[in-house]
Amino acid sequence: MPSDTAATRLASIRDRIARAARLADREPSEVTLVAVSKTHDADAIRPLIAAGQRVFGENRVQEAMAKWPDLRAETPDLVLHLVGQLQSNKAREAVETFDVIHAVDRPSLVTALARAMAESGRRPDCFIQVNIGDEPQKGGCAVNALPDLLAAVRAADLPVIGLMAVPPAGLEPAPYFALLAKLARDSGLPGLSIGMSDDFETAVTLGATHVRVGTALFGARA
Ligand SMILES: *Cc1c(COP(=O)(O)O)cnc(C)c1O
Repeated sequence: MPSDTAATRLASIRDRIARAARLADREPSEVTLVAVSKTHDADAIRPLIAAGQRVFGENRVQEAMAKWPDLRAETPDLVLHLVGQLQSNKAREAVETFDVIHAVDRPSLVTALARAMAESGRRPDCFIQVNIGDEPQKGGCAVNALPDLLAAVRAADLPVIGLMAVPPAGLEPAPYFALLAKLARDSGLPGLSIGMSDDFETAVTLGATHVRVGTALFGARA
C-alpha cells in the first residue's frame, strides 16, 4: 500500500462496487454507498467528506446528534442514514436528525414514526428491517410477519422505499440476500439495503441499492 488514506480506501470501495454492478449488468449509479461512521469522530469523517463522500450512516441517535450538526453546517449536502435499532421514544429525534431510517421493524415503531413525521413535517425515507435468518436475538421483523408490517406501514403512510437485513454471521450471505431481494420484489419495493464490509460485492450482484460499509472505509472500530 503506497498510501492508505481515506481517499484511496474510498476510491477502492467505489471501484469494487462498480465492478460488481457491471458483472450483474447493473449501473454503478444504482448503488448508494452508505459510509457507516459509528464510533468514529468528526476528525476521522472529514477526510472522507473531503474525498467526495456525502452519504453516511450512524447506528445511535444520541451519537449522531452530537457529531453531525457541525459537519452538516460545514457541508450542507450531506445525507445521514440511521442503520441501527431505534427505540420508539427516540422516534422524534431520529426523524429530525436523519434523512433515511433503515430499521423499521415493529408496529409500535411505525406508530411512533408516523406521529413524529406528522409533528415535525419531515419525512425521512424508511426501510423495513427483516430478520432474514430468523435469529432469536436479532432486530428486524420475522419473515412471516412482513406482510402485516408492510400493511401497517402503508396504512400509516410512512415513506417506505425498501427492505434491509443483516444476514446471520459466519454463514454464506448470498442465499439470505437473494431471499430479501425476492421479498422486496414481491412487496413492490425498489430499495434493498444489504451488504457490509465483508460482503458488499455479493450484495451488489444480488441487487443491493444501498450498501452499508464501515470497517473497510474507516478501519476497525475500538
Ligand atoms: C456497523 C454496521 C454496518 C457496517 O459494518 P462493517 O462491517 O463495519 O462494514 C452496517 N450495517 C449495520 C446495521 C451496522 O450496524
